[in-house]
Parts: sequence; structure tokens; C-alpha cells
Amino acid sequence: MNCIDMQKTSHLYSSLFNHRALRLFLLTAFAVLLSSCSSQATKYFTESKLDISNVVLISIDGLRPDAINKQNAEHLIKLTKSGLYFPNAKTIQRSVTLPSHISMLTGLDIKQHKVSKNKSLPGHLSFPTILEILKSQGKKTAALYSKKKLGFLFPPGSVDYIFGPGQNGIDYNQANANQLAAEFARIWNQQNYHFTFIHIREPDAYGHQYGWMSSEYLNQAIPLTDKAIGNIINTISKGEKANNTLLIITADHGGKDKTHWSKRPEDLTIPWIATHSQLTPETITDTQVNIVDTAPTILHLFNAPLPKGIDGQVIKNFLP
Ligand SMILES: [Zn+2]
Repeated sequence: MNCIDMQKTSHLYSSLFNHRALRLFLLTAFAVLLSSCSSQATKYFTESKLDISNVVLISIDGLRPDAINKQNAEHLIKLTKSGLYFPNAKTIQRSVTLPSHISMLTGLDIKQHKVSKNKSLPGHLSFPTILEILKSQGKKTAALYSKKKLGFLFPPGSVDYIFGPGQNGIDYNQANANQLAAEFARIWNQQNYHFTFIHIREPDAYGHQYGWMSSEYLNQAIPLTDKAIGNIINTISKGEKANNTLLIITADHGGKDKTHWSKRPEDLTIPWIATHSQLTPETITDTQVNIVDTAPTILHLFNAPLPKGIDGQVIKNFLP
């Protein structure tokens, strides 16, 4: 079996087998085989030149990029000016929380993962997330999230540490931005999590209640989110891994009036920001970045294998 056949077979097995133990075994086995395929590898397998030991991905639920340019977003504005910033990134076209996050963390468009419902679903996702893939590669992973339905993304055993509603007795209302930042500070100083996913929900909640870009959205939700982001940055910058940590900030969807599930530009446009000590600041408006590019880009930066057939592509601007 050549490398291309192995990649196809790997994807086939990932698609067919829902039994987690078997699927994880196969995933790990094929990941090892795929890692020996560098000579025939696609562009995704080229080695990253950034010195990255850790990646922190923050998804801010319902954050519109044009909200960052308004007042009261000191830390987010700094990030857009100190890293790579794609202010015209797009989410999938069903711009709702659960399907969008599945696309963010698997690299699969909704046409492939086929999850269109946006509510707590029974069972778990049958496609591997980047947390599961990285864990199978020996990396430590953590997920800190604030909506119970996102638990669908994290089957037992797929993540090293989980903090979220329905996990460890945490109540829905307790997983607010401040608590997530505090929990991040606690675990960041205790364990070396190579990849950490953090989900903050307040802009979406204020958008639904008061309207996107309303006074409450801009002057309450954005500042309290920005404060949590500042605390997370402070935690990273004080630690030993500060210069080797890549921070990515994006969103699952935007919003207009009090909803976000149409195909309006305000619903589909999301920010995509990456900062790292070796990245040259640049705002890029002429490159189309999609939420599905998040997963393959992160896998690429860890030199981890990509599942064959995913829709996302590595964001090439990372490469010097
Ligand atoms: Zn959402």
C-alpha cells in the first residue's frame, strides 16, 4: 500500500467506524504510517519554521470583526495589530454554533460532517477533532468551553482535560469568561498542554438578547470578553512558554439584529487572528480564510498528519 492509498484508507476507516476504541486505534496506527510518508506528502506536510511548542485557540461565540474596531476592546485590538489578522474570514453556511465549531475543530465543511442541528445532541461526533488527533500523536490537550452542546465534540478519552457545563459538575451559568480565564491560568501553570481550546460565549448571548452591535453588545459583552482575553494573554506571557506559544482567536459566526443563521455577510464574516513572537504583524484582506482552515493549520504547525479529504487548507501565511 503506498502513502496515498494509506491516506485514503485512513479516511475511510475514520468515516466508517464509530466505535471509539477501534477508531482511535486505527487513527493512531495510520497516523504513524502517514508520518513516514513525507516524501510523497501533500503541501500540508511541509515542516513549519515557526518555533511552536503550544497552541491556544480561543473561539469567541458571535464575535463580529467590526466589533473589535470599536471601543472597549483594548487587548483584541492589540492582537490584531501585533499578529496576522484576517478581518474577512468566513464561517460555514449554516452559521450556527455547534455545526460551526465542528467545522473549526475537524476541518470538515457541513456537507461532510452533516451536523446541522444546533442543540445538545446525544452521543458524540464520529469524526476526529484536532484534539483527538493531537492526543493520538502524544500531545496533551485541554478543552475549556461554556455551552453544554459543545460537549458533543469531546468524547470520553479524546481530550486530556475538560472544563465545561455538564463536565465535573460545572453549571451552565458558571462557565463565564472570567471563570474560563481563571481556569486557564490554573491549568496552564500545572500542566504542559500542547493544545488548548477555549470557548467564550458572552458576545453571542448579548447579541441574541440586545442585538449585534447594540450598545449592550459593544459596551458590555465585548469589554468583559476582552478582559478575559487580557487575563489569558497575561497568563501566557508570564510563563516559560511565552515565546513559543501561538495564540489564535476566531469566532463561530457573526450576527445581525438578534440572529446569525442567515447567509448575510454580517452572519458569515468572522475574525481570524494569530499571534506568536516570530510572526510579523500583517492585516490581510485579499486572502480568503475559512473556519475549516483552522484545524489543518494547527495540525500542520505541530507536524501532525491531516485526515485525507478534509475541506480546510493550511493558511500559508504562517510560512516565512
Ligand atoms: Zn455561536
